[in-house]
Amino acid sequence: MLALFRMYFWDSIRWRIFIYYTTLIAAMIALLIGLHAISAKASIEQLEEAGLRAHAIALLPEFFPPPPRGQVPPVDGRIVREPPPPDSPVVRAALESSRSEGWFFLVMTGSGHVLARSENAPGAVARPELWRKAGILEAVPVPGYLAVAAKTPREEYLVVGMPRKTLAAEATRSLLVALVVGGAVFAAASLLGFGIISHGLQPIARISEAALRISEGELSDRIDVRSQRSELGQLARILNDTFDRLSEALARQVRFTADASHELRTPVASILADCQFVLKKERSTERYRETISFCQESALHMRSLIERLSLLARFDARETVLKKEAADLREIGARALSVVGPLAEESGIVMRSELSPVGVNADPLRIEQVAINLLTNAIRYNKPGGSVTLRTGQAGAKAFLEVEDSGIGIPADKLSRVFDRFFRVDDSRNAGTGGSGLGLAICKSVVEAHGGSLTVESEADSGSKFRLEIPVGEEVSPTGHHHSLGLNI
Ligand code: ADP
Repeated sequence: MLALFRMYFWDSIRWRIFIYYTTLIAAMIALLIGLHAISAKASIEQLEEAGLRAHAIALLPEFFPPPPRGQVPPVDGRIVREPPPPDSPVVRAALESSRSEGWFFLVMTGSGHVLARSENAPGAVARPELWRKAGILEAVPVPGYLAVAAKTPREEYLVVGMPRKTLAAEATRSLLVALVVGGAVFAAASLLGFGIISHGLQPIARISEAALRISEGELSDRIDVRSQRSELGQLARILNDTFDRLSEALARQVRFTADASHELRTPVASILADCQFVLKKERSTERYRETISFCQESALHMRSLIERLSLLARFDARETVLKKEAADLREIGARALSVVGPLAEESGIVMRSELSPVGVNADPLRIEQVAINLLTNAIRYNKPGGSVTLRTGQAGAKAFLEVEDSGIGIPADKLSRVFDRFFRVDDSRNAGTGGSGLGLAICKSVVEAHGGSLTVESEADSGSKFRLEIPVGEEVSPTGHHHSLGLNI
């Protein structure tokens, strides 16, 4: 039973909010009804008491008419006048109304002799001693009755009252009315609340429907965010961005796997073809040697490809591949320059350098590899007699390393993809270079793992500029660069 309640109501946000809401409303209404009942009881009593006083004031002159003008009322306690006959219109009306409305009156002398009474007047109030000390028309506690009395100067009494039972009945009736009204308000508030909650939660239903469609394979579908300016709109936008990124990542993954297998299939196919050809019949030792050395070359190529792929995979998995230490970017740049020196010379490219020292906290070997990669590209994709400039230095809180070449450049429409895995601007152009298109992808991963960025500016036919930026680290004193600064001045 409880589990069923949980499943259908408690686990649904809509029902949970509704239950909270209705509980709160019910508590508030109950409180109001309670307060009303307390105050109603007091005010009903006051109201009835005022009514009794009004009856008394109306009846008093009927039973005890004032003495004629100029005549001093006698004070000897004698009754001046017998009560009027019950057919006086005021008395008759009083008898009538007391019968129908449940109040009573009683007229008595100071000794308790009853002169007149309505037929429902109880004997319990016919005791002058109850009223002797009371103020004029003051209510006096008579058990079971609410009653007030008027006293004449000769100590005669007119008592007007009603049973407390009648009062209680009236209070109960007022409570019943309050309960009915409260119930109606509760029902209306609940209905309205349910409507508001359902309406408010509708966007969630739409979001989850869209998410479901997407998860079922409609990867291009998105949540409609135009109509949702609320917090849910924000959520929808965030989800849409996530879906965008996910589907992009998925597409990249698919492309990457296809490219990687293509890249490996080519050398395997040529190894197989060559082996098949050679094994067909007896060959010369020279031919065997040729085949074996071709196989070795292909295997080496595949090994380097596999190593680079696994390095990328480790960066993707956010494994700590780096061995960071305090280093000087200028030294790293200088080492990379010396490594690519022979290639530049061979290609007839002029190398220039503008190196300023800047301390970084980095893996020097990895950063050097990045610099070598950028420099090699700058030499490879250059023009005959072209030049390459390497710069290092500090710009704000960033240390930078920049490689600028006067080479063939990269067309604007391809620029955003040069860091993609296996991307080559022009496959035929790179046929001779043997590049696999992984170099820049690895460079980017390395730099990003350092908390930095690798960017490119390029113009077709006039050259490219690759810029690496990583946060500045502590200055490295052992190399003595900034000591020599003092000497240079
Ligand atoms: P590759 O191993 O093919 O050189 P990279 O990832 O290093 O792969 O480079 C990707 C592609 O970007 C290259 O194939 C080349 O077309 C282009 N490229 C890289 N550097 C330069 C440059 N300095 N000038 C012109 N094109 C470049």
